[in-house]
Amino acid sequence: EPETISDLLDRLCEIVPDYPSAGISFKDLTPAFADAAGLRRMVDEIVAPFSGQFDVIAGLEARGFVLAAAAAYATGTGMVTVRKAGKLPREVHRDEYTLEYGTGTLELHRDDVAPGTRVLILDDVLATGGTVGSAARLLKMVGAQVIGVGVVLELQGLGGREKLSGLHVHSLQLV
Ligand code: AMP
Repeated sequence: EPETISDLLDRLCEIVPDYPSAGISFKDLTPAFADAAGLRRMVDEIVAPFSGQFDVIAGLEARGFVLAAAAAYATGTGMVTVRKAGKLPREVHRDEYTLEYGTGTLELHRDDVAPGTRVLILDDVLATGGTVGSAARLLKMVGAQVIGVGVVLELQGLGGREKLSGLHVHSLQLV
């Protein structure tokens, strides 16, 4: 029998306790990216519900880039990078968001996405939803239409899905 995506992720996601700080259970998907079938299954299943609904895929730095670039290539679309502050060389929109401790800042080039473009946002893990929410605001600033959000893992009990109410959020596994 073919392995389910859930079994595949159980097998290829390493859980690292107390990383990067005490009390955090870090979900390390690098073994799933390194596995040929793992990468293909994650990419195919993350875009499946949004088939035909997007023109470009936005990847969130840094692990979202891996998924977004592969998914854009697989679906014949383009890929844009939503980056941490100070990495993009030209004119950007900037959005500051709340982290569990402190704040984070994301940026998007003002001209990487044309107004009206239908965008799918991809990242590896949804936790509080702060990062994806920030990316969605940046994309709205350029007049894009965020048609959905795909993540490999959705951490439960942190309010991520609730925070993103109004967005179609698809996760491959709840953890
Ligand atoms: P949040 O903004 O709280 O939804 O956090 C999501 C972002 O932080 C994503 O880019 C994830 O890669 C990363 N992240 C947050 N919590 C974890 C975790 N427990 N394991 C792995 N990555 C995480």
